[in-house]
Amino acid sequence: MSNKVIKCAKCGIKSTEDPSLTFHRFPRPTTLGNLKLKVWAKYVFPNEDWTSEKKLKRLYTRHIMICGKHFEDSSFTFNKKLKLHKFSYPKGGQNIYDELRHNIRNIEKVQDVPEQKSSVYIACCLNRSVECVW
Ligand SMILES: [Zn+2]
Repeated sequence: MSNKVIKCAKCGIKSTEDPSLTFHRFPRPTTLGNLKLKVWAKYVFPNEDWTSEKKLKRLYTRHIMICGKHFEDSSFTFNKKLKLHKFSYPKGGQNIYDELRHNIRNIEKVQDVPEQKSSVYIACCLNRSVECVW
């Protein structure tokens, strides 16, 4: 960890204010519709338009971070709050996800979106009784 001060893009808390707090970078852009990235983007900046792929990618390349307070404990792997599951959404992100996926299905008809798979992964990540495949 560098000693650079990190600021949460959602609530504004700084890493210096609570040293025990974890900070998490926006998801890496993918070729599969950037669904996860969009959920994070809409969660943190709900009033912005996230249809631009370029703009979405900037969230990642500019190292925008949000703090661990926006995630359920079950979103983390290993000990307490070390690392997020690969498919973790911030609290309340499931609604955004559902909405986005609905839109994708109706408007873009994106091929290769692993719909079936995604819901399995989410279920496993949210439900600790199922072993997470990520
Ligand atoms: Zn925060």
